[in-house]
Amino acid sequence: MSELAYPYEAPASQALFDRAAAVTPGGVNSPVRAFGAVGGTPRFMVSGTGPYLTDADGREYVDLVCSWGPMILGHAHPEVVAAVQEAVARGTSFGTPAEGEVALAEAMVERVAPLEEVRLVSSGTEATMSAIRLARGFTRRTKVIKFAGCYHGHVDSLLAAAGSGVATFALPDTPGVTGAQASDTIVLPYNDLEAVHAAFAAHPGEIACVITEASPGNMGVVPPLPGFNQGLKDACAADGALFVSDEVMTGFRTSRAGWYGVEGVVPDLMTFGKVMGGGFPAAAFGGRADVMAHLAPAGPVYQAGTLSGNPVATAAGLAQLRLLDDAAYETVNAASAQIQALVTGALTKEGVAHTVQTASNMFSVFFTDRPVRNYEDARAQESFRFTAFFHSLLSQGVYLPPSSFESWFVSTAHDERAVQRIADALPAAARAAAEATA
Ligand code: PLP
Repeated sequence: MSELAYPYEAPASQALFDRAAAVTPGGVNSPVRAFGAVGGTPRFMVSGTGPYLTDADGREYVDLVCSWGPMILGHAHPEVVAAVQEAVARGTSFGTPAEGEVALAEAMVERVAPLEEVRLVSSGTEATMSAIRLARGFTRRTKVIKFAGCYHGHVDSLLAAAGSGVATFALPDTPGVTGAQASDTIVLPYNDLEAVHAAFAAHPGEIACVITEASPGNMGVVPPLPGFNQGLKDACAADGALFVSDEVMTGFRTSRAGWYGVEGVVPDLMTFGKVMGGGFPAAAFGGRADVMAHLAPAGPVYQAGTLSGNPVATAAGLAQLRLLDDAAYETVNAASAQIQALVTGALTKEGVAHTVQTASNMFSVFFTDRPVRNYEDARAQESFRFTAFFHSLLSQGVYLPPSSFESWFVSTAHDERAVQRIADALPAAARAAAEATA
């Protein structure tokens, strides 16, 4: 694939971006989509099929974002589309209980052993916000430990030192979050158990929960060091706090049972989103039945949602989960490993210092030769090389996350043809990264 096939200009996307900017702050409905970290015109996509996206200018891209994780079967998977069409035809929202939400909850509980009960919500943000409220209501404590570089959605109290778009845009303390909200949040360096023990020692009996990404993907992929998650669980248990594992990104992606299925550490509460919604707004939190029993209407901790358990979203999620058998994970893992090897081969050939870090089929490329164990390490990379690498790939029809603080995502649809297109684009992208200057 020559660069000429994908000229850099994107006039139709630019025209849409201009229109959007007149009616929407920054022209986008989620900050990272604006290409702020890499510059240039955000691509407005009009369709997706399998591993490909097509933009408003009619150009096709191999998609390595997969809607930031959910599209693990690729775009417009025929069986997911059929389930959605069938559900839509029966009505789009009832505001009553319905069987689809029971079936989705059952499928989740069946896969993830520590998930005894589950409550459906509409976004990962809502899931973590509700889990924190429940942890505080259950323990009758106020403080929450989170880790720098971990993103749990835009929950007020969790926006301190968050990764993802917050990392990209370097907004350490977002205006609008009050001192009172932030003061109950203790932010610690990731992968540092000593810091966790010191925080518990400084605040005995005050910490409601520790929340962590099960394996972080929002400062780039930075997996937990061996024993870190178990250490968190043990520290929580010793103090009477709850261990909340945020599997919004890793859930049903890193294995049939998410990161829990990879590592086996049992959380008290877990949060989910992305894959379980099949590309629709569905998310969840759940865990120990005795903790979940504190949730309204069974218990006093209030939580609700007009569209929670929406019948179309649950149909999409259920169809997707049913298709995600062991063979599907093997396919995604194999495609991911192949792409990782190609990236590292191309960058090595051009002498570009880099580190590929993985969490099952999630991976990211850091432009540093040092292992990245926390947010500080992630920020020390040469991000300017990523920008050059990103734009070269974009111009050749390969769509990466537009930030060096994100995971890359692959699907079962990333077949030989899609992987070959990435392989063809990589040499020029690696050269661009090598030649980039700060
Ligand atoms: N938790 C994690 C680990 C995430 O990666 C995200 C989103 O990327 C969220 C929570 C928030 O989910 P949502 O964007 O659906 O609100």
